[in-house]
Amino acid sequence: MGLRIGIMGGTFDPIHFGHLLMAEEARQAFALDEVVFVPNGRPAHKKAYLVSSPEDRFVMTELATASNPQFSCSRIEIDRPGPSYAIDTIRAFRNQYPDLEALYFITGADAILQILTWHEYDRLVEQCRFIAVTRPGFSLERLSELADKNFLDHVSFLPIPGLDISSTDIRVRTHQERSIRYLCPDGVVDYIKEMGLYRPHEIAPGEME
Ligand code: ATP
Ligand code: MG
Repeated sequence: MGLRIGIMGGTFDPIHFGHLLMAEEARQAFALDEVVFVPNGRPAHKKAYLVSSPEDRFVMTELATASNPQFSCSRIEIDRPGPSYAIDTIRAFRNQYPDLEALYFITGADAILQILTWHEYDRLVEQCRFIAVTRPGFSLERLSELADKNFLDHVSFLPIPGLDISSTDIRVRTHQERSIRYLCPDGVVDYIKEMGLYRPHEIAPGEME
């Protein structure tokens, strides 16, 4: 039997328990052998400000996933020059694992709606299936209005326990010198502190929203 792999894409700035929970829920529900976390190199849809270096985001992703033998991290988007497009990553996985039984791209409710605006989105579905997990504050209802049936046929919906955690909130909290413990793993909390990420002096005036 071939491998069943899930790709968990994100900016992971920083990675938090929402990301880890959705990956674990998808792993179990779809009998995945492995979930590969792929931090974006240069996110095509994020403003440049407040985005930490790819190396910092990669290290935090490694720290957060190390204790799960079925989680791994890939540098593929970080090491690829130019903007990060999921289609290129999915094609690279297909080349790397020619005997794949199944390839899933795991997203939250907000991200699956954004995918409709992605580069070559209609060609993505030829290469992989999507798992769209629930996320507090985002409704999946609009997806059936916005997406065509061909795309929807390739999407599986997965309800997960709601964790109202976002990287944006963690960055804002850190900027305001508020606690982020229990929102992301201790190793990530310690790394943010040691490296001084998201601290007031790192952000020029007028850069906060
Ligand atoms: P930011 O606030 O910087 O956008 P984020 O918390 O949304 O960060 P991303 O790295 O943008 O995290 O998201 C990566 C993927 O994880 C996306 O598919 C997103 O929908 C999903 N995701 C993030 N947080 C959650 C959560 N709490 N519950 C469900 N899905 C989530
Ligand atoms: Mg996001």
